Amino acid sequence: MNNTKQEIIFKNYLFILSIIFLLGCILISYFFIFAAAQQVLLFVLTSPLLLILFILSKLASGGIRKNNSFSCLLIFSFLVVGIYSLVRVITSAANSQISLIYILYFLISSVLFLLTLILWRKSVISRFDLKTLSPTEALSYKALAEVVIGDYKTEGYSFDTTVKDFDKYLSIFDSSKKSSAKMVYLAAQFLPLIFFNLPLSWMGIEERKDFIQKRFFKATGLVLTIMRSAKQLVYFVYYGNKPSFKSTGYKLFEDRERFNKMPKEPDPEPLDIKYITNAAEIQTDICVIGSGAAGAVEAYNLAKNTGKKVTILEKGKYYIPQKDFTNIESEMIGMLYKDGALELTQDFDLAILQGNCVGGSTVINNGICFRTPASVLNNWEKIGAKIDSDKLEKYFDSVENIIGSVSLVRNPPITNEGANRFYKGAENLNLNPEWFKTNFGTCGGSGYCNIGCKYNRKLSMLLNYLPLAQKEGVEIIADCEVLKIQTRGKNAEKIICKNSSGTKFTISAKQVVVAAGAIASSSILLKSGIKKNVGTRLSFNITTPMMAEFPDVVNSFDGVQMCCYIKGNGFLVETTFNPPGTSALIMQGWFEKLNERMKIYTHFATAAPVVGSEPNGAVKLDLFGNTTVDYKMTNGDFQKLKEGMKTLCKIFLAANADCVLPSSYDEIVIKSEKDLGLIDNMVKKPEDISLSTAHPQGGNPLSDNKEIGAVDSNFRVHGFNNLYVCDASVFPTGVMVNPQLSIMGIANYAADIISSTI
Ligand SMILES: Cc1cc2nc3c(=O)[nH]c(=O)nc-3n(C[C@H](O)[C@H](O)[C@H](O)COP(=O)(O)OP(=O)(O)OC[C@H]3O[C@@H](n4cnc5c(N)ncnc54)[C@H](O)[C@@H]3O)c2cc1C
Repeated sequence: MNNTKQEIIFKNYLFILSIIFLLGCILISYFFIFAAAQQVLLFVLTSPLLLILFILSKLASGGIRKNNSFSCLLIFSFLVVGIYSLVRVITSAANSQISLIYILYFLISSVLFLLTLILWRKSVISRFDLKTLSPTEALSYKALAEVVIGDYKTEGYSFDTTVKDFDKYLSIFDSSKKSSAKMVYLAAQFLPLIFFNLPLSWMGIEERKDFIQKRFFKATGLVLTIMRSAKQLVYFVYYGNKPSFKSTGYKLFEDRERFNKMPKEPDPEPLDIKYITNAAEIQTDICVIGSGAAGAVEAYNLAKNTGKKVTILEKGKYYIPQKDFTNIESEMIGMLYKDGALELTQDFDLAILQGNCVGGSTVINNGICFRTPASVLNNWEKIGAKIDSDKLEKYFDSVENIIGSVSLVRNPPITNEGANRFYKGAENLNLNPEWFKTNFGTCGGSGYCNIGCKYNRKLSMLLNYLPLAQKEGVEIIADCEVLKIQTRGKNAEKIICKNSSGTKFTISAKQVVVAAGAIASSSILLKSGIKKNVGTRLSFNITTPMMAEFPDVVNSFDGVQMCCYIKGNGFLVETTFNPPGTSALIMQGWFEKLNERMKIYTHFATAAPVVGSEPNGAVKLDLFGNTTVDYKMTNGDFQKLKEGMKTLCKIFLAANADCVLPSSYDEIVIKSEKDLGLIDNMVKKPEDISLSTAHPQGGNPLSDNKEIGAVDSNFRVHGFNNLYVCDASVFPTGVMVNPQLSIMGIANYAADIISSTI
């Protein structure tokens, strides 16, 4: 790639510096040899230094990219000389000759330090077109990519472009979690210093690879977390972007033959969205915070039932699928996911996935619909959460009618081939597999549910409840993050919000319904000073995806992502499949192993055991007021997960898979049932495998028992007259199945109760 204008300026600057240093060195030597003896001091102090600076600047200017380490050394030398000179100025006698020389040194080195640093930064920023990463972070990311992808690099996809794609992903979303991702690369760059090695990007490739293998394969604690995350973000971006697709055999939906055969449908009308850009004060009757599964259903029903003015406040932005969605994983995940999908529990063991856009998590979910199991409702009743189950069934009927929930049937290629094989394997073992009920329209099987369906065939809130709500006069304000609710006595009075540019504004409402989803709803209440039982009883449906390798091409990417499942004892096993970026995240192995496996990406199928956890998690605020999730998987839940993993292996093996790979950090290859013991022997702790959840629940438990509940059975926050919560956060335990239908049904149920009390 050609040097940028800034790089050429920096190169010329270094070249001029090298000439100045060389001339300086010659001149001083000349004076020493031919002039008076008192110049000895000046010569001794200056000449060797100028020689070193000449060598460094000459080498750096010789290859602005290749010899970047010399530019850094030069900058570092100016810094050292500056600091040393300052110390000498302070410690030497005033007006002495030495002192004057050091004052001069200090001034010159400070100017050179700043100027060189600025020009160096500009040159690296322009090389990678950086918007978010610092130059050091970008160079560290590239250094790691050169090692973890290495010779597997696809022709035409340079590592410089991978850095640009990573920077682009980070610059799409606005979150404090971004700094953690950046820190990982800063740490990776300087960690080798602790082991007396050069910084990561300064080492040669072979040396760097040896170092990473030697030091980090068996690393533990924070170092392990840093290296895992650093590696995973490289694979995610590299394999998730178009130029690498030819190496995996992946095809974008629009490049597949059947794309043109998908029945055409007219594009839906975009929603009418409002944005607030000034310090306004807005009045409304009922304010619903959040536009996801719960908020959309509530807003529609509250407006329809009461005829009052209802306003939805949504933190995320509004995207029009057919216009804004690109089908590129890193772009869409940056755009649609909360924190760009980088949210983790405090101990980094569990990744939490949620939506952050108008329509909430329904825009990125798989449309699977389960009614709440009766056993769960019975258990809730014991905890003081009284939900009339007969009434709830009617709400489920109504919701299913609106969102269009129907059962999938085996229909290749709409149901993907990996899932078809799973179904067959489960049938062979008499495990009674079932196809999911989903809220899809005439689905084309693009496989893009989790990155938003550009074709509007997954019927998210964008396509049903939100348009219906707008017909009832509901106003939707997007890019509106609720910071806190101001309360007076037993009443919620004002809602303090800000947009992504930082402008704050206020909404006054007579009734406030919080539906910002699990974690965020608890966070809003905690930030508003409402603490009683808030943040407690957080639970998750926890999964660990496993990849099954088949001897032939399966092309699981070509079809609906999640198709069928089996019920186990304390767990479900659900099929799933992701485009290559996300698949690389869960693919077992490092270096060649992982890249070799990605080369046969088309041979894999994926499924995941799903365990509804105990409600032992908590949402908290840290010392700086940031939201944190405190969760440690219980042993009971971990054992259920491992049972699920073993059942999953058996099913794929019964479907003639060559082997099944857990997403473990050690190499565990299950080739036959004899190998199942490896799961017990090698998966000893939750951190031995990658864990994720897309279904956080709880945090504001529903219970009339004031010692347990944050909200009562009327969905009113205990102790308040006009403040309600209804979304996944009110579930006092997890529903143990995919929760969207439970959330929508209960939101409809709650909206009718709230309407009758205001
Ligand atoms: C990748 C993925 C796949 C899934 N697949 C399925 C599936 O197939 N079936 C299923 O049943 N479930 C699925 N789920 C889960 C399901 O979508 C969620 O459980 C459900 O949408 C949660 O509903 P909610 O209303 O509680 O929260 P959400 O739908 O997440 O809505 C909350 C909204 O509040 C907004 N918000 C947050 N904080 C603030 C704030 N401070 N101010 C203003 N607004 C705020 C958020 O941006 C969001 O739009 C999936 C989830 C994910 C992430």
